[in-house]
Amino acid sequence: MRPQPPEILINEYVGIDYFIPSPELEEWARKTFLDDESPLHNPDHAHLLQAHIGYLWTNVPNSKGMRAVAGTAEIPSFRGAKWQKHRQLMQMQEWFGAIPDFVITLDANYCFETSDTNFCALVEHELYHCAQALDEFGEPKFNAATDRPIYTIKDHDVTEFIGVVARYGIGSVANGIAFVEAANSEPLIAHADISKMCGNCL
Ligand SMILES: [Zn+2]
Repeated sequence: MRPQPPEILINEYVGIDYFIPSPELEEWARKTFLDDESPLHNPDHAHLLQAHIGYLWTNVPNSKGMRAVAGTAEIPSFRGAKWQKHRQLMQMQEWFGAIPDFVITLDANYCFETSDTNFCALVEHELYHCAQALDEFGEPKFNAATDRPIYTIKDHDVTEFIGVVARYGIGSVANGIAFVEAANSEPLIAHADISKMCGNCL
């Protein structure tokens, strides 16, 4: 069973802007997409095995260019004067126990209503934004001191879109025409319709 947003977000906090961290979503995404025993395992996300991803549900409606945003992926950054910065740091720490490498925020109302396939396509779409930085030779970059990957947020390139299309079908990308080739083979997971609902992509 996929994790559902807390009902309080959908039914009670109507009109009250709220964010709720979801450790169960991180566990589920890890088990579903990163674990090589999982039927939905996707080796494209292998660099995320060591990543701490903080997931948030929100009931705050978001849109960009007239289109609803169902999810975003970001590397947390802290701006402002000393107290502002530390207030933001403290918030992250309270939510996630530490400062995560990435924060993925999902629209609770959309996720509550959508199909399992769309939900998986949305989470994977956001995971595809969570990339490992490359060095000048195009090799994955690691932190020399900790040996951990150096992470970055990536816009989708052709390869990534092919990954999503191959798994969820051509409906899962907005600019699908360029990627018809990948879609000609049967999608691995079934048809998903994540029609441009990502805040990073809009
Ligand atoms: Zn996106």
